[in-house]
Amino acid sequence: MTALIDKFSRQVRYVRISVTDRCDFRCVYCMSEEMTFLPRAQILTLEELHQVARAFTELGVEKIRLTGGEPLVRKGIDDLVTDIGSLPGLKDFAMTTNGASLPRYARALKQGGMDRLNISLDSLDPERFRRLTRSGDLTKVIAGIHAAQDAGFERIKLNAVILRGRNDDEVLDLVDFARDEQLDISFIEEMPLGDVSDHSRGETFYSSDDVQTRIESRYALMPSPETTMGPSRYFRMADSQSRVGFISPHSHNFCSTCNRVRVTVEGRLLLCLGNEHSVDLRDTLRRYPGQLEPLKEQIIEAMDLKPERHHFSTDGDVQVVRFMNMTGG
Ligand code: SAM
Ligand code: SF4
Repeated sequence: MTALIDKFSRQVRYVRISVTDRCDFRCVYCMSEEMTFLPRAQILTLEELHQVARAFTELGVEKIRLTGGEPLVRKGIDDLVTDIGSLPGLKDFAMTTNGASLPRYARALKQGGMDRLNISLDSLDPERFRRLTRSGDLTKVIAGIHAAQDAGFERIKLNAVILRGRNDDEVLDLVDFARDEQLDISFIEEMPLGDVSDHSRGETFYSSDDVQTRIESRYALMPSPETTMGPSRYFRMADSQSRVGFISPHSHNFCSTCNRVRVTVEGRLLLCLGNEHSVDLRDTLRRYPGQLEPLKEQIIEAMDLKPERHHFSTDGDVQVVRFMNMTGG
């Protein structure tokens, strides 16, 4: 039973924790080319991150996802995973990663108790991949996917953000790659988080419905009732184990069933991805070091701030000034 229920009777069972704002990539939809990252004193220590995870699981949260920034560039991430992985009550422990450091870490993550991985992959063309990530090496990411498979991760999911005119022509190639590698794949609509210098978001918006139409030109998609306690809508293909998901914050609003909150690397508890409602957990962590009760009380009280819904639009306006790497995607 979760102690975390908001004003709209939604039960919060899922928390995404950002463990760093830093990243070895600079994806065009996520960051600007020149980023200023937070000074060390402002970000939660590994111990504080563990405390936060513990407070949430003691309040009934069953699923934790570590994200960032790129979680695998945080020093000591393997120890943090082991600490969180052993928390009682945690049923689903996951990470979203760009995959480039998985050859080094996949085994340690699995041994530390991590259940699932989402790996971001927007292009299978090495040059285009470098352009979209501004620095990423596709070979490393593919090696990372294989390392995760070798380490025993099952149902690995690819995340692909599709941008009109940039990679919308790769939708079918990405689906075929997922089928060949026996992976699931989710297509994500770009969200207007942070003012990125690379493009106007209105121009590049490509809806999940358009992605679906492209896929259905080759494969019939059958709606699947499965859920991973997230906002994805899933489909299956008749001749494959791979699932295809759509995360559509614009075109299919999922707020009414939202069961999640986020914690930024500065310890801000964000009640909604698309709104600024938040409370400062870092202040409480530092005022009462080592004490879980004040933190838990603050989290329970914060539930009243969870807004009913977000209001993203596709006209390219920036509605939330936070970048995705700060929010913890
Ligand atoms: N670095 C890791 C990665 O790329 O998987 C984890 C953090 S990243 C912010 C999490 C996810 O958010 C990635 O799948 C990324 O593609 C997605 N993302 C980043 N900026 C986005 C945006 N503006 N709109 C939609 N998705 C975005
Ligand atoms: Fe880094 Fe992930 Fe953002 Fe790309 S999407 S810049 S990999 S944090």
